[in-house]
Amino acid sequence: MITGTTKLLGVIGNPVEHSLSPVIHNAALAVLQADDRLEGLNYVYLPFPVKSADLSTAIAGFAAIGLQGFNVTIPHKQAIVPLLSEVSAIAQAVGAVNTVWQTAQGWHGTNTDVTGFLAPLQAHDQDWTQVIAVILGSGGAARAVVAGCAQLKCAAIRVVGRDSQKLQQFHQSWTELGLNHLLSDSGAAPDTRSPANLSVHTWDELPDLLPQASLLVNSTPIGMYPQIDQSPLSAIAMTKLPGSAIVYDLIYTPSPTLFLKQAQDQRLIAIDGLEMLVQQGAAALQIWLKKSVPVDVMRQAARQYLRS
Ligand code: NAP
Repeated sequence: MITGTTKLLGVIGNPVEHSLSPVIHNAALAVLQADDRLEGLNYVYLPFPVKSADLSTAIAGFAAIGLQGFNVTIPHKQAIVPLLSEVSAIAQAVGAVNTVWQTAQGWHGTNTDVTGFLAPLQAHDQDWTQVIAVILGSGGAARAVVAGCAQLKCAAIRVVGRDSQKLQQFHQSWTELGLNHLLSDSGAAPDTRSPANLSVHTWDELPDLLPQASLLVNSTPIGMYPQIDQSPLSAIAMTKLPGSAIVYDLIYTPSPTLFLKQAQDQRLIAIDGLEMLVQQGAAALQIWLKKSVPVDVMRQAARQYLRS
């Protein structure tokens, strides 16, 4: 029930109408609020459409009304950084903030997409130090994927894109930030191979990369609804992957995508983007509430909403 003590969470973006975050967060909050042991927990999560020109005004307003925390989506994931008093090392490495919370010092920001990306992979018993990861696309999501693969200490991370200049910039940005920094921040030993184990490639090189790819990630929008008959790979190309490969599509609608259907036809392990979406949300809610959250409720709410 919304009362005089209800606290506010939300998501800012433009547009935010299609965001699943209000659905998954409010489902989890409803369950937590119904739990007698958590007496007094009372939050609501709202979408806030904010234009780029209004971003700093909106953040100042959020502080003034005591908003507890918020998610950040397109187009504000980078633009918000200068408005925060502290940005986590992982968000600096990814170059984007998706979760912000209020502290005595001001707004702190981090990026939970890496946690979200890693969650379904960690369910697989795998020696990640032997894994060669091939990542299709070099946009915002690909940065979280590279950071995740670096945290797994993958043997090699190969990013495939269509624009050589953009690819060089992508590679350069990691050199400047340093995957070493990212790994040492996570508590792992500094990776002396970095950034040598990150390489960039154009699509014409893909046939040579596939036979060694034990993890193939689609971080392009190819195959996303309504282009459901498209795949970044041909069915023939999918046969070039090793038999034990994991094929991961960040897209969650449709489920499965044609890309994942092609992987299933080859009896490869197929992972869709829903779990990443749910787990990045769960990680954010956990930061705001400082308690464990019902991930299964969030997953169920997302599935139900996407089916409706
Ligand atoms: P983005 O920043 O726009 O990057 C898209 C990347 O895909 C770019 O590198 C782009 O290449 C490439 N690309 C686009 N169309 C292409 C085509 N026809 N052929 C070859 N490459 C193409 O988008 P994003 O934010 O990274 O998102 C990418 C996908 O991940 C989307 O489908 C999004 O829904 C999904 N995603 C899922 C989650 C989740 O939680 N499951 C989270 C984030 C994103 P250029 O740079 O050359 O344009």
